[in-house]
Parts: sequence; structure tokens; C-alpha cells
Amino acid sequence: MFSNKSRGGGRGSPFLIAVAVTAAACVAGWLLYGATTDSHADSGATGGDPAGPVTRAPSSPGTGEATASPSAPETGSATAGPSPAATAPAESLPLTGRTVVLDPGHNPGNASHTTAINRLVDIGTGFKECDTTGTATDAGYAEASYTLDVSRRIRTILLSRGARVTLTQNGDRSYGPCVDERARIGNRAHADVALSVHADGGPASGRGFHVIAPAALHTGSADTRTITAPSYRLATALRARFKAATGEPYADYTGGGTGLTVRDDLGGLNLSTVPKVFIECGNMRNSDDAEALTDPAWRQDAARGIADALTAFLLGKR
Ligand code: ZN
Repeated sequence: MFSNKSRGGGRGSPFLIAVAVTAAACVAGWLLYGATTDSHADSGATGGDPAGPVTRAPSSPGTGEATASPSAPETGSATAGPSPAATAPAESLPLTGRTVVLDPGHNPGNASHTTAINRLVDIGTGFKECDTTGTATDAGYAEASYTLDVSRRIRTILLSRGARVTLTQNGDRSYGPCVDERARIGNRAHADVALSVHADGGPASGRGFHVIAPAALHTGSADTRTITAPSYRLATALRARFKAATGEPYADYTGGGTGLTVRDDLGGLNLSTVPKVFIECGNMRNSDDAEALTDPAWRQDAARGIADALTAFLLGKR
């Protein structure tokens, strides 16, 4: 329902103006939409998918980074007037200058690198496995495939809005990264916001999505005190936008049915120095959720809801 399809060239008027109008329309849309955000929340720290942090990033010339692709630099012959093919000046896009780090949970290769991913890494409040294999639907659709697909869809949307987007892994490495490294990638990028994408492996009888925000803690190498408030604001925006975009209900098996939990056992959150949350988009072990998660059209809706939440957060809207 809240799509971004209004963007596009403005015929008849200078392209710059068209872009500005489009951007303004988008912002207005988000503003309007934001009014529907609800605010209840809880702190039930249960929940199924402790996707930990990642350690050691085999350096990472691999992590996909990209910035808004200003279409082709027009070379050559002068054309009269503004060309419809002209590239939008970066300054005119709503997320220009903002950096988003997307963390697709797990990695399809983790299952064949058990020794490496079982290595314990420091998450501040203790030690935890470098990474885990993630879950899958009964039919065999892997969580790691889901998280990568949705993260790429989110990236495409955010790039179109002018953001710089980095993925912690983009199918370009054999396993991991470890959870601590996943956090550090966001920190090093000085991300304005970071998001870890997951789908849960909860009880088959339970369904729904939930968002996980970081608990305030200052222990060992973990210090989340400066990010808990903005992360919680992000969590509530994400909860509202994701529900509106997908129709997915709040999880009925964790978080007291509020769709939001606060946890201190996830390295990817504990070690973050930038606002960050996790989203468990649904329960892969539940047949209704599995059907949704497996549907590309549903995943596009999910990506749109998530991208709209990140955009609203970055623009200071709820
Ligand atoms: Zn997961």
C-alpha cells in the first residue's frame, strides 16, 4: 500500500524539479504514514534465534558496498534541454549522505564450516559461537537464503533513495562473518543505522514476526548505552512498517505478543556502536509463515516495509 512507485521522470518540466517533487512526495508519504505507529512494547527476552555476532572478518574486500547508482554519466553530444536519462543529483534524494549497514543473518555456507562457525567469540556479556547455521522451512528453504534475498531487495530500495548501503556478507564468502565482526562492519562504516535480517526457528504452532532491540549494558567490550534509545525508536518504527507492509501478525510465541523484545545475549547488538536492531520476519517452522517467507512477492513487501522503516528513522519520523 505504501509504495514508492511514484518516482520517475517528470515529463515536461526540468528533471531537477521533478526529482525534488518526487522526493518531497516521498517524505510527505512517510510523514503521513508514520501517524499509524503504535507504541506498546515489552522486554520479554525470550526468543528463538540467537544469531550471534561474527568474529573475524576475513578481511572484507567482499562485503558489498554500493552507493546510489547515478546512472550513466552522459558522455558525448550535447542534447537540448534536460534529458530524461540524466542522473538525479545525489543531493536531491532523501537519503543522500546516509549510510545503512544490512546484515543478512547466517550464511548458506555455514553448515559446511562447522568448526569455523563454532569458534567462540567475545560478545561482551560472555562468549558465543562465531555464527550459526540458521533454520529452514520444512520444505528446505534456508533462512540464510531468505535473509540474503530480502537484504538485497532492501538495498535496492535504499539505493534508489540515495543511501550508501553496505552488506555484511553478500554471498561472497564461504561462511560467516562471525557475529562480532558483523557488528564491527557497521561500526567501521559509521553507519547511521544497521539492521540484522533473520527468520526464526520457533515452535511450529507459533507464528508472527518480532523485532529485537539491544538492552542497555556496559560490560566488557560491550557498551550499548548510547544506542539503546535510538535503537528502540527504530524498533517501534520497524514493527509498525513491517506489519503494515506484510500483514504479518506480531509473534504469538515470544515477546508477550507485542512484536518486540529487548535482549542482551546477541553479539551483533551488544557490540554495536550504531543504532541497530534485529528483525525475525516470521517463523520458518510454522506452515503459514513458511508459505509467506517462500513467496518472492511477500519478500518484496517485507523489504519495502523494512526500507520504509529505515527511511523514516533516518528522516527522524516514526
Ligand atoms: Zn537467524
